[in-house]
Amino acid sequence: MSKVYMTDLLVEKVSLEDSPVAKIGKLLELAGIQDVVEKGDYVAIKVHLGSEGGYRIVRPIFIRKVVEKVKELGGKPFVTDTCRPPSLDYLEIANMQGINYLSMGAPVIIADGIKGEDYRIVKVDGLILKEVEVASAIADADAMIVVTHAKGHRQTGFGGAIKNVAMGCVAKKAKGKIHGVMGEPPMWLSERCERCGICIKACDHQAISFKDNILVIDKEKCVKCYRCVWSCPTKALTWSLSDVEKLYMAMADATLAVMKTFKPNKVLFLNFVMDVMFICDCAPIATIPIVPDQGILASNDIAAIDKASLDLINKAPGIPGQVGLNKRIEVLKEGDNKFLKIHNVDPYRQVYYVEKLGLGSSRYELIMI
Ligand code: SF4
Ligand code: SF4
Repeated sequence: MSKVYMTDLLVEKVSLEDSPVAKIGKLLELAGIQDVVEKGDYVAIKVHLGSEGGYRIVRPIFIRKVVEKVKELGGKPFVTDTCRPPSLDYLEIANMQGINYLSMGAPVIIADGIKGEDYRIVKVDGLILKEVEVASAIADADAMIVVTHAKGHRQTGFGGAIKNVAMGCVAKKAKGKIHGVMGEPPMWLSERCERCGICIKACDHQAISFKDNILVIDKEKCVKCYRCVWSCPTKALTWSLSDVEKLYMAMADATLAVMKTFKPNKVLFLNFVMDVMFICDCAPIATIPIVPDQGILASNDIAAIDKASLDLINKAPGIPGQVGLNKRIEVLKEGDNKFLKIHNVDPYRQVYYVEKLGLGSSRYELIMI
């Protein structure tokens, strides 16, 4: 049974030691950071840099504490994510979010180069994928601390540590492969389309254009992220849910490839089960969380930490308010598999496939600090 350490967000005294911010170092120690980071190690601190318009990513002050802990152990940290928008645009977003060299005390870099094409090919005996383009700065790092905001995701149901590694540590080509297992690019329904151009702006890959008033999706550029589908106000773009299971398998394969670039016991995970929105940090918005803040978790087991995070979210009562775009639906209840209800895909399947590939255990012991 794997150990998952957790601090809740209740504080007993108005003192720095009682702040969840101050507890990051302790959580990392309990999870074994002193065995993971050796003097002189290049340590990737993998975060999600968010989106222009989003504001519920892991707050910079927490990431800074991870940086400080790595430095204390003699490691050389860098804060990193991979291209979603091209690198320079993404770094500007990071800056707006308050994540830069000055605030972090460490370099902030994009792990797969300025255009998402800097990677190392890693061969795996995966469930679907046989080789994965892992972002070069991740592959070249000696150790990694995966800092994850636990939240929903419209395609995968849940965005936890698995998604942060599988999609967030690989280059553009691999992201395309993972999304690609789902089939074709979105379909366009001309009669519903108001030619507003919102989807064109939503597409980070410049794959959409209009030619003679007809919407065209460039198959070479489209990575099947379906961001355009969700951005369309009239539902003129659609996709099929039937291949989600394959998507989960490909994510597990990519996780395997990323983990393979590290020696054993060189990766730790921190999950922030706070600000749990129905939607992911890529969205250019943020909205009312679906459950009260639960706490911060640390573990060296990717399957255990995501399973524990999902269990906490599902055991929690729902918060009244918005859980879907443009609609307020009934408050989710204690015990509901919340992301299954919201997104119609079961997020526990991510954990199942990662466990199947031997990357961790869904059986865990939750230890409160
Ligand atoms: S699915 Fe839509 S938003 Fe995503 S890359 Fe393809 S065209 Fe662009
Ligand atoms: S967002 Fe929807 S309505 Fe607007 S141009 Fe794109 S497909 Fe048409």
